[in-house]
Amino acid sequence: MDFVSGSIGWIEVVCGPMFSGKSEELIRRLRRAIIARKRVQVFKPVIDTRYSDSEIVSHGDSRMNSETVGGAADILLNLDWRTQVVGIDEANFFGQDLVSIAQQLADSGKQVIIAGLDTDYMGRPFPPLPDLLCLAESITKTLAICLRCGNPAKHTQRLVESDDLIVVGATGMYEARCRRCFEPGCPKQESFDFVRARRRE
Ligand code: ADP
Ligand code: ZN
Repeated sequence: MDFVSGSIGWIEVVCGPMFSGKSEELIRRLRRAIIARKRVQVFKPVIDTRYSDSEIVSHGDSRMNSETVGGAADILLNLDWRTQVVGIDEANFFGQDLVSIAQQLADSGKQVIIAGLDTDYMGRPFPPLPDLLCLAESITKTLAICLRCGNPAKHTQRLVESDDLIVVGATGMYEARCRRCFEPGCPKQESFDFVRARRRE
C-alpha cells in the first residue's frame, strides 16, 4: 500500500515466519524513504545481535544501519524528533510495550514500519504482533519456502529442544515449514533425518 506523504503518521506491519523476507522488505521500504529524502531511524532489540549490533541484516545479507535498544521505551528516548520514518525490526523481541510506543509514534506524525514474527515456535500468536496488526494501517504477510516440501511456509519450526519462548538463533536452529509439515513441539533432528532419507531414495 502506498501512502501519500503528508503530516499524518501511520503504522505498517510486515509479519511472517523466519526466512520469509521480513527484514528484506523492511530494508526495501526504508531505502525508498531515504530516496524520498525522509529522515529515517531504525531500531532493533539488544537481544538480536546475531549478525551485527549496528545493522539490521537479512538472511540474504541485505544490510542497513540501525540503533540497538534495550526495550521499547528506549525507542522514544533515542528518537530524534525530526525523524519522519521509524523502522523497527524483530518486533517480537520487544514485548507488549511496543504497542503503545508504536501508537505514540504514529499519533505524533511518524511513519512506523514494523517487522516481526507473527507466530512462535508452537504456532501461537506471538505478542505484540496480534495487537499491532489490529492497530496498523497496512499489513503485509510474508511467506517463506517450506524446507520439507517446497510449498509456501507460514511457520517457524524449532529444531533444538527448548520450551523457552525466545531462543535466539537462525539456520540450523530454525527452519521454515508449511502448515502440513509443521510439527509444533517436535524439534530435533527429524527434519535432517527426513532430508537424508529422501536423498537416499
Ligand atoms: P526474515 O526477516 O523473515 O527472517 P530475511 O529478510 O532475513 O527474512 O531473509 C530472507 C532471505 O532468506 C530470502 O531472500 C532468501 O535468500 C533466504 N532464505 C533462506 N531460507 C529460506 C526459506 N526457507 N524460504 C525463503 N527464503 C529463504
Ligand atoms: Zn511443507
